Amino acid sequence: MMSSLALIVVIVIDQFHMDTYWKYKSQLSQSGIVTLLEHGTTYLDAHHTQFFNQTCPGHIGLSTGAEPSLHGVALNKTFDYGQEVYCLSDDKNAWLHAPEENKNLFAIGTSARRILTSTVNDEVESQFGERSKTVSISIKDRSSIGMAGHRSDLVLWYAHKAQQWTSSTAYAKDLPLWLNKFNEDQRKLEQKRKYEAEEKYQNTVPSVDDLGRLVVRAMQEEKLGSHPKTDLLWVSFSTHDYAGHDFGDDNEKFVKVFKAEDRAISQILAQAKKTKGRILVVLSSDHGAGIDAAELSKKGIPSGKVNKPSHREALSKCFKSEAIGEVGLLQSSSVYIKNLKGDAVAKRLKAKECLKKSGPPYWHVMTKEEVLENRLPQVPWLQNLATSWHPTLGPDVIGVLHPYWNSDDEEVQNHETPYSYDSWVPLSFWGTGVPAKKIYRKVAVTSLAPTLTTLLKIRRPSGAQGPLLEEIVSLK
Ligand SMILES: [Zn+2]
Repeated sequence: MMSSLALIVVIVIDQFHMDTYWKYKSQLSQSGIVTLLEHGTTYLDAHHTQFFNQTCPGHIGLSTGAEPSLHGVALNKTFDYGQEVYCLSDDKNAWLHAPEENKNLFAIGTSARRILTSTVNDEVESQFGERSKTVSISIKDRSSIGMAGHRSDLVLWYAHKAQQWTSSTAYAKDLPLWLNKFNEDQRKLEQKRKYEAEEKYQNTVPSVDDLGRLVVRAMQEEKLGSHPKTDLLWVSFSTHDYAGHDFGDDNEKFVKVFKAEDRAISQILAQAKKTKGRILVVLSSDHGAGIDAAELSKKGIPSGKVNKPSHREALSKCFKSEAIGEVGLLQSSSVYIKNLKGDAVAKRLKAKECLKKSGPPYWHVMTKEEVLENRLPQVPWLQNLATSWHPTLGPDVIGVLHPYWNSDDEEVQNHETPYSYDSWVPLSFWGTGVPAKKIYRKVAVTSLAPTLTTLLKIRRPSGAQGPLLEEIVSLK
């Protein structure tokens, strides 16, 4: 097996479906994304195994190697003590130097406390301790925290109202000194910028450029690659996801963002190459995406979009007339019932009929009992539903949309289904001694975490099942 590594960098491009690469490859430089995908060992049929392909479970799947049935975060939102909450909310851990954001602590305070298994960084921290450094950075807190887990030396994301990079008290008492100056410059830059209609910081090029500069700076300041044991850096480009939702893949604004990501990745690779020891760089994504269902429908391709407010209203009415309770959370056709009283099993069966009547034409609708007792249609692609269902945290009822259906018509394009357009992502390894090789075998991205810990010769994350990526763990 590979002799010891000085630095591992995991780069995630949020909502990067494999085909986007081929579509825009000719417009990319040779020193960034193309280097990783053409000059490394690349799995061309890598898939997420989460049922709901979303940011929170997607990043957590990469870092834990676990399914949502174990790590506990199946959706971007969840239901806790009768209320809808954000997947990583933690009112006990406020953001640092972000007073405006902290006003609504229950929504904004964040940590990894809802992630129920360990991550690669957690294992590195507990097994290497001070002998290595672990860092995670993204503009989105759910990306950064999802990759980092419970214990990392530096976990950063962007506080929009405060216009600066932040962390939460879950990770540190204060931000590192070098970041204060960076944040001062950040605020000055941001105050000068102008955005056109539909544009905002998080869906445009400046947020990519800032992230690239911050990551390179963090690599220098934290001296990544120079500690006695392997250092780990996780970076997620979440601007890609916002641009995809707001503009769609065919939009010029989206292409500009993609090219900016390529430039930032070139800079990160250039900095990584300065490391004296061996390096390994991974490129992947937290989920793919569908394409604009409205456009598809115009072309006569089976597809559709659901108007979320009217769906919720119809569902609420049915719940009321059937005395089921209230609609607590409706997300990606998953329903949590609020104030469910009486026979829960019977109420869930009634709720199933309500969802069938009030929603879009579903492929199938199931209750919690039907999923947990495996009373499901016996089709292989539906297996990910059970592996994504946490017995106590899972929803009461779930409707499975038909392919190319989107549960939220406010998004140009979306991702939330188990279908291959939402699960198919790049998975590439590039670095010292890694050969250029293309592998067409279907693999699960949950193999990444145990593959990394095996390269480090340490215990794997607590919920990681494997299998290992043989071509990578066997590298000399
Ligand atoms: Zn998204």
